[in-house]
Amino acid sequence: MTFTVRSLIAGRYRLAVYCPCGHGTWLDLIALARQDGPDTPTDHLSMRRRLKCSICGRRRADIKLHPETDSLLSDRPYTAEEAEVLAMP
Ligand SMILES: [Zn+2]
Repeated sequence: MTFTVRSLIAGRYRLAVYCPCGHGTWLDLIALARQDGPDTPTDHLSMRRRLKCSICGRRRADIKLHPETDSLLSDRPYTAEEAEVLAMP
C-alpha cells in the first residue's frame, strides 16, 4: 500500500527526513499537500526524487514515518489546516 500525503495526515503521522550530510528535519505535510496535492504518493522513491536537502542540495534523503504516540496528541481534533487538506478533492 502506498501512503499519500492525505493518508499520513488522516493517520496523524509525522514524516522525518534525513540527509546523508547529517541534516534532518520534519517534513511539513500541510505545505506539501498545498504545493503538490493531497494525493501525492509518499513512498521512499517518490519522496527522494521530490526532496532536495536545504543544506547540501543532494536528493539522497531517507524518510521515516513516526506515529503520534502521545495519546493526548492522537486524540486531539484535527487542526484547521489538517481538516482543509483532508477535505481537498
Ligand atoms: Zn544534505
